[in-house]
Amino acid sequence: MSGFQSPRGLRDLLEPLASAHGWATDRAWAAADAAGYARIELPIAEESALFERAVGGTSDIVAKELYRLEPRGDDAVTLALRPEATAGAVRAYIQHGMRSQPQPVRLATVAQLFRYDRPQKGRYRQFTQFDIEAIGDGGPGIDLEVIAIGAAYLRELGLTDVQVHLNSVGCTACRPAYVETLRAHFTPVSQELSEVDQSRLTTNPLRLLDSNETAAVKRAATAPAITDHLCADCAAHHAAVVSGLATIGVTVVAAPRVVRGLDYYTRTAWEYLLPGEQGQQGALGGGGRYDGLVELLGGTPTPAIGFAIGIDRVVLALEARGLLPAAAAGPAIVVAGIEAESLANRVAIAAELRAAGASARADVSTRKIGKQLEGAVRDGALAVIIVEPDGRLTLRDLVKASQAEPAERGGVIAAALRLVQNEG
Ligand code: AMP
Repeated sequence: MSGFQSPRGLRDLLEPLASAHGWATDRAWAAADAAGYARIELPIAEESALFERAVGGTSDIVAKELYRLEPRGDDAVTLALRPEATAGAVRAYIQHGMRSQPQPVRLATVAQLFRYDRPQKGRYRQFTQFDIEAIGDGGPGIDLEVIAIGAAYLRELGLTDVQVHLNSVGCTACRPAYVETLRAHFTPVSQELSEVDQSRLTTNPLRLLDSNETAAVKRAATAPAITDHLCADCAAHHAAVVSGLATIGVTVVAAPRVVRGLDYYTRTAWEYLLPGEQGQQGALGGGGRYDGLVELLGGTPTPAIGFAIGIDRVVLALEARGLLPAAAAGPAIVVAGIEAESLANRVAIAAELRAAGASARADVSTRKIGKQLEGAVRDGALAVIIVEPDGRLTLRDLVKASQAEPAERGGVIAAALRLVQNEG
C-alpha cells in the first residue's frame, strides 16, 4: 500500500510556494489596511441556505460545487464550506448592524474557499481569495476606489501588465429586456448548443456569454453588447466609471462578455486579467456591484461592491514570470556543540538570540563539529556559536571563515548579534 495522499484538488504548499503564498497574503492585508478597509475574519462554513439564496441555485458553485456538511448533534441546519466570501461578509454586515456605522462600510478578508470543481492547473478544490467589500454606497466613486485597489495590489506584486476587463450588467430595470434580446440571439442556434448551454438559454441566458463551449463562444461573438442596452441611470454610472478609470490610469479593456457567474451582480462587473496567459490562468480575479444582495439576505436595501482576487493564481503568475519571492531564509546563527550535556544550553542560547531579534537554531545532535558546521553552511547561516565543554563559547564567522578564541557567554552572544547585523 502506498499510504495516504492529499485528497484530489487539495494541495500541500511546499517552499518556495508556501512563502510566496504567505507573502501575497500579507501584501493583501497590507493593501487593505492602507486603504482603510477593516479586517474581517469570517467562519469557514455558513448555513448552506445562505449560499443558495445569495449565489443562486442555478449557479455552478451552488448547483454542483458546494461542499455540504451533514448536520450533527443539535445542529438543526445544514452547513456548507464557503465557496466564496461575499455572502458571509454581507451576512455579517446585517447581523452586526453595520448599517448604523458611517457608510460605506469597508471590509477586507483573506479567505480559504472550497469548491467541488474539476481540478487542473490554477483550479483547485481549496483555494484562497483576497476579498474587498464596500457596502453602503451606490455611486461610481466607490467603484473606482475598489477597482483601483485590486489593480494596484497586483501591479505592486510585479504583475504590472494586469488589465481590467470592464462591463456593466445593468439593473433590474434594463437587464430583463436585454436578456430577452440575448435569448432571441441564441435561440436560432439552440440545437447546436451543449446541453448545459441549452438549459442556460432557458434559465439564465446571460451565462451563455461566459460559456467555454465552442458553439456558445462562436455565437457570443456576434451577440448584442449589454452596454448598448443600459437604462439611462446604468449608462451614466458606467460612463462615470470608464472615464474615472482613465483619470486614475488603470488600463481598461471594454469587455461586453464579462458577466461574472453569479446571480447577484448589478451594474459594474470586471475581471483582472493578465494578457498572454493560457486559459483560465490569466484570470486573476474579478469583482462587481451587487446592489440587491443585502436586501436578498434580509437586510434593508443597500448598494455594495467588491472584488475577489485568487491568491493561488497570483502565485502561479509570479512563478511563470520568475517573480517568486525567495523562500524564508534559514537561521543566521547556528549554536553547535558535541556534548549531550550542552544540549539545553545550546537551545537556551538560540532562544536568547531569537529574543534579541536574530534568527537562530541550535544543532541538537551530538555529531562531529565538522558535520554541524556543514549543516550550518547548508542552511545559509552567517555564524556558528560553538558551546565548549567548559561552557565558554567560540564564535565562528562563516562568511570570513574565521574563528575567535573561546570567551564568556555574554560577550560572544553580543558579538554574534553584531556580526549578523553587519553581514545579514
Ligand atoms: P470567482 O469567485 O469564481 O469569480 O473567482 C475569482 C478568482 O478566484 C478567480 O479569478 C481565480 O483567481 C480564483 N479562483 C476561483 N476559483 C478557483 C479555483 N477553483 N482554484 C483556484 N482559484 C480560483
